[in-house]
Amino acid sequence: MHYEFVYHPAMISGEDSPQTLTLYFLGDKLLAQPEFIQQPLQHPPWTRDSLALPGERELLLGTVNDVALRMVEVAQQPEGWQTMSLRDCLQATADDVFKVINAAAQLRYWLSTQNFCSRCGDKLQFTDNDRALTCPACGYRSYPKISPCVIGVVRKGRTLLLAHSSHHRTAMYSCLAGFIEAGESAEEALAREVEEEAGIQIKNAQYMVSQAWPFPHQLMLGYLCEYAGGELVIDTNELETADWFDIDQLPQLPAPQTVARKLIDAAVAMIRSDIS
Ligand SMILES: [Zn+2]
Repeated sequence: MHYEFVYHPAMISGEDSPQTLTLYFLGDKLLAQPEFIQQPLQHPPWTRDSLALPGERELLLGTVNDVALRMVEVAQQPEGWQTMSLRDCLQATADDVFKVINAAAQLRYWLSTQNFCSRCGDKLQFTDNDRALTCPACGYRSYPKISPCVIGVVRKGRTLLLAHSSHHRTAMYSCLAGFIEAGESAEEALAREVEEEAGIQIKNAQYMVSQAWPFPHQLMLGYLCEYAGGELVIDTNELETADWFDIDQLPQLPAPQTVARKLIDAAVAMIRSDIS
C-alpha cells in the first residue's frame, strides 16, 4: 500500500474523531503498537486507537490517503505499546511512511522547544491560517525550524574521501557535512567544511540530491565534487579519522536510505563509468 501524505496548511490541534488517525510519540521516539514495531513494512505506525493518556503536545499534521492524521506526544509509555527511535524508523520503514514520521518528528521537536515568544516572552499560540505559532501580545510568528546543511563526497581519481566521526557508534565512514552559515551559499559552505575538517580544497561541486533529516531539523543538500588540492589534515574536534578509499575497497558505509549513501553510490557509479 502506498501512503500519500498532504500537509495541513495551518497550526491546529487534530480532532479526536473516530476517523482520525494518530501518530504517537513518547519524547523523541515513535510510539506504536507491537505489530508495527515487529513488521514495520507491513503495518503503518499511525492508528485509530485512542490512548487514555493526556497529550503533552498535539497538532493536525495533514492527511494520509485523504484521512486526517494528527501527531500526539504523550509523557508515559502505555502498557502494550512499544517505542522505536527515529534512526531505526529511517532504516526500517518504507520511504512514504518515513516521510510522515520525518515531518511529525520535526514538528514535535519544534513545538517542544517553542513555548514562549523570543521577542516578548508571552505564551505562543497556534495559528489557524498559517503553519506557525503566533505571539498574542506582539504578533511575532515562529515558523518550524529547518537548518540547511551541506554534505559532499570528494572524488580523487578512483578514490573517495570518507570520514569516521567519533559520534558514530559503529565503524561507519561517511561523507563530510556541516551547517551552512548565515550569508553563505551551499557551494561556499561545502568548500569551507571540507577545507576545515580535512584540509582539502575542492572544485566542480555538483548538486545531486537533498533529504529532510530529522536529527533534529536539518535539510541536507547533497553534492558530488572533485579534489582540487591540499594534503589530508584531520580536524580531530570534528572527526576521528578520514581517508581516501578506493571504490573497490570501501569501508562500512551508511544505510541505503541516507543521502550520504546515495552520494557515495552515485560517485562510485560515475567513477566506474569513467574507467570502463
Ligand atoms: Zn511576543
